[in-house]
Amino acid sequence: MNTTKIWLSSPHMGGTEQIYVNEAFETNWVAPLGPNVTGFENDLQKFIGNNSHVAALSSGTAALHLGLILLDVKAGDEVICQSFTFSASANPILYLGATPIFVDSETETWNMCPIALEEAILDSVSKGKKPKAIIPVHLYGMPYKVDEIRKIANHYEIPILEDSAEALGSHYKGTMCGTFGDISALSFNGNKIITTSGGGALVSKKETIKEKAIFLATQARDAAPHYQHSHVGYNYRLSNISAGIGRGQMEVLQKHINLRREMHDFYMNLFKNIKEVIVFQEPNSDYYSNHWLSCITINSSENGKTSEQLRLALENDNIESRPLWKPMHLQPIFEKYPYYGNTVSENLFNNGLCLPSGSNLNNDDKQRIIETVSRFFMK
Ligand SMILES: *Cc1c(COP(=O)(O)O)cnc(C)c1O
Repeated sequence: MNTTKIWLSSPHMGGTEQIYVNEAFETNWVAPLGPNVTGFENDLQKFIGNNSHVAALSSGTAALHLGLILLDVKAGDEVICQSFTFSASANPILYLGATPIFVDSETETWNMCPIALEEAILDSVSKGKKPKAIIPVHLYGMPYKVDEIRKIANHYEIPILEDSAEALGSHYKGTMCGTFGDISALSFNGNKIITTSGGGALVSKKETIKEKAIFLATQARDAAPHYQHSHVGYNYRLSNISAGIGRGQMEVLQKHINLRREMHDFYMNLFKNIKEVIVFQEPNSDYYSNHWLSCITINSSENGKTSEQLRLALENDNIESRPLWKPMHLQPIFEKYPYYGNTVSENLFNNGLCLPSGSNLNNDDKQRIIETVSRFFMK
């Protein structure tokens, strides 16, 4: 077996990260505030545009948690969440003692199905309980059906908490993901398109929301010379060291998006003659995915080969791949909550695979992937 592991998505430093980190040491800004935090927030605001205000936080999960609090979600409330996602989209609902209501995906973007969403809302409303928020996700970097979901949210006057953790740099009709929610969340975890080792951000069009997020993220200290508190606070601010990594990463973000999209092209080409494999791609030119992860589905009825067999074949050659997200409504911790929809996300989970997608994969890595995949489908 080849001793060099090919990772699904590993950190890819641009080179200037350490300059910002060293600066933090030299100026003794080794704290959860400082010039890198402010600089990183400004870089992000400039990049996503659309009059957004960004609060840098310790994780994407923290951003979703504070987002729900700022949308006034309380114990006993209902929150609608895309089922086909990573558990961090849904866990903050439980932190607050609220009830998640899961909604299936549609087949074009793999994200929240507008029809199932409306069904879920109408059912809640008929029981006298309007959901307090909707959490759609741009999974794997693919924008969800932004216009359709927004229209329903506006019609029923329910705010959107947009989970854009995987979609920094993706856009829909030319507008950046991370700017479509009443509040939005970004992530800079180690496996994401850029990383601060761990980190996230809360995004809003309203500067007051940003200020409130920072207030809550820094232990909710009231204005007083002593420590005075009239709200529950959190320790969720991003460190100035991590933000330094983020500033360096922002310098290479567009380059890394281009490289991820090249990896997607690589798979389109690799699978073009393997008819049982479909590479997940944008439904039309309104959608621009950062292709954080390149994903495929295998129609195993063609020749009996399954996505799990391909995963094992890749693993055997020290190449990491991963099943698509297991839907939340099928997870032991969430299966008791309501679910609306069909088996779209379940089928994706059963037949799909994420393939190595990092911006740092080289030609040797690609050659190894070609050989393993070709051998697998030739047999
Ligand atoms: C990574 C991720 C999160 C959580 O972000 P962290 O920074 O890891 O806390 C939330 N939602 C989705 C869809 C993610 O992929």
